[in-house]
Amino acid sequence: MTDAATLPGQPRGGALSGPATARAVNVLAPNPSAMTLDGTNTWIVSEPDSDLAVVIDPGPLDDGHLRAVIDTAERAGKRIALTLLTHGHPDHAEGASRLAELTRTNVRALDPALRLGDEGLAPGDVITTGGLEMRVVATPGHTGDSLSFHLPADRAVLTGDTILGRGTTVVAHPDGRLGDYLDSLRRLRSLTVDDGIHVVLPGHGPVLDDAQGAVEFYLAHRASRLAQVETAVENGCTTASEVVAKVYAEVDRSLWPAAELSVRAQLEYLREHGLIGPG
Ligand SMILES: [Zn+2]
Repeated sequence: MTDAATLPGQPRGGALSGPATARAVNVLAPNPSAMTLDGTNTWIVSEPDSDLAVVIDPGPLDDGHLRAVIDTAERAGKRIALTLLTHGHPDHAEGASRLAELTRTNVRALDPALRLGDEGLAPGDVITTGGLEMRVVATPGHTGDSLSFHLPADRAVLTGDTILGRGTTVVAHPDGRLGDYLDSLRRLRSLTVDDGIHVVLPGHGPVLDDAQGAVEFYLAHRASRLAQVETAVENGCTTASEVVAKVYAEVDRSLWPAAELSVRAQLEYLREHGLIGPG
């Protein structure tokens, strides 16, 4: 979800289709909304001298979009050899089985229900299609099955909905859990500090050139929201919807249902850490 805060670093304009790094090209899906920003970013990742490409997040089930993804790869002289999913939300995953059918390839995801073919996908795996080196990183929190993909040669990380190009994301309780999400942000921060990652290639919104700044912003934002939720409970709010009306008052009302999921995750976190009563 979005809010008024601006991310640090220089977002490269809007979310546009086209090359973002030496190895990653975006094809923007035609599904813009308050929740999906400009639409879902479908990423095509490939070694520059290879004729094999990997698609990350085919996006919604939209034949025009899926054919645009295939055409973009073919125009670059590449064949789609594999599809990966950052997580199972339909705006990322719904088109996967159709793309697999069109390209006669497999789909790998953390959630077995989303896979096509024999191969799973787990943190620590390394994708080596066509000479790529892309490392799978556990980033649960937005959902339980959220993964990110670290592309060391481009000093980039593909974050799905864990970090967006604008605004902040939803912790989609009960599947998404705030403690997991904070751990995931710290894991991404260590990629920026220890592994020199500069670029965030998000699932929605523009590319971010200051990955560490973005992660720090997300951590600070979550801490400040959590303090606001704690204060709201101390001041007498007893339900998640009451907390939303108080803490998310400045956020567009169309986003309140999503905000309520994040609030439920925050209330659970505060209770688990003994910061508020059992409720
Ligand atoms: Zn999502």
